[in-house]
Amino acid sequence: MKVYKFGGASVKDGDGVRNVTSIVRNANSQLIVVISAMGKMTNAFEVLNDAWFNKDEAKIQEALVPIKNYHEEIVKDLFGSAQASVRYNEFISQLENRLCGVSSMHFDYEYDQVVSYGELLSTAIIADYWESQGLDCCWQDVRNLLKTDDLYRDANVDWELTTKYMKEAFQFADAGLYLTQGFLGGTISNLTTTLGREGSDYTAAIIGHVMDAQDVTIWKDVPGVLNADPRWYAGTVKINEISYLEAIELSFYGAQVIHPKTLKPLQNKNIPMYVKSFVDPTATGTIICERKGISEMVPVYILKTNQVFVTISPFDFSFIMEDKLIEIISIFRKYRVKMNLMQNSALNFSACFDRKRDTEAFLNALNKEFSVRYNEDVELITIRQYTPEAIEEMTSGREVLDSQVTRKVARFVLR
Ligand code: ASP
Ligand code: MG
Repeated sequence: MKVYKFGGASVKDGDGVRNVTSIVRNANSQLIVVISAMGKMTNAFEVLNDAWFNKDEAKIQEALVPIKNYHEEIVKDLFGSAQASVRYNEFISQLENRLCGVSSMHFDYEYDQVVSYGELLSTAIIADYWESQGLDCCWQDVRNLLKTDDLYRDANVDWELTTKYMKEAFQFADAGLYLTQGFLGGTISNLTTTLGREGSDYTAAIIGHVMDAQDVTIWKDVPGVLNADPRWYAGTVKINEISYLEAIELSFYGAQVIHPKTLKPLQNKNIPMYVKSFVDPTATGTIICERKGISEMVPVYILKTNQVFVTISPFDFSFIMEDKLIEIISIFRKYRVKMNLMQNSALNFSACFDRKRDTEAFLNALNKEFSVRYNEDVELITIRQYTPEAIEEMTSGREVLDSQVTRKVARFVLR
């Protein structure tokens, strides 16, 4: 049994859905398919949720109309009529009903209840399409199977319950093909949760782990894992083979090709993960497996943009030692700010993190205990397998606000 995961870009229009369908047909294996929201729909749902949370009726409609139009265009392309997908119609009326009510005061909770419709609508349309094409497919609501705690927007998996429900649901007795949603989970009281943005890869890995899959394939719009993001770096090199450990390091530093939590469940059971191109499905792609290092000795670049670089020092000139560090880190934890880089000296502690909607509140909290200086909109560049030339290429002509160079990794905060 294999697991395939298709992201939003692969199902962004009718042709995309047809292409995914043909890849699934050619799988020659029992298959569990995990699919994300279509195209950039998760962003559109985030806008919808903001309007809903702020009780702005006009903005709700303004956000909902393009979401409906977009999906119905795809339904029309696939079936000839915008009304043809029964499952889609059911979910869209469910969503519209919800939006007629009033939201709670818990932003993250509402986010998960609303944004989850991206994956529900996407898999609803595709399940109906597959049935219409004679594919023997069983649609599963992953919220009943992937059980989590109630940390909305970043839910933690309950492995015991998830194993129990998945093993019951994916028996391959009545179907050779299952279709389910990425990114979503459900609490024990059946409220919808999500695993964090881009979490569908993680879903595929969870299913792979629990079901002891032969392998997991992530189908992408790039030929595999590259040594940099082709959107900002010209002349990328494809990596053919990479160890779990190296890939975990890359995703930890922010390589977007794989969601950071994805590899651990696979590494634990030695299940290989393929990253392949849905544009060129027969090409080899990248394999992530048990091996040593990376098959290509090239520098690997990871860029994180929209970073805040903050430096804080205690008002009373006390040293940044163990107790102070605990104090600092607990403020970061309280605001759930993930440090992408940290550094300290006797009197200064510096860190880089992603800008978020409550960054202001977080900086104010720091300011109660420390003197705070910060730069916004800086970049964090990480180079693994670096060379002097690679460092020069990335930093020349830039102001370096901070740097960390170890034997394997060079990191720079740049303005
Ligand atoms: N649709 C979700 C997102 O865009 C999950 C995913 O695509 O992996 O973040
Ligand atoms: Mg996506």
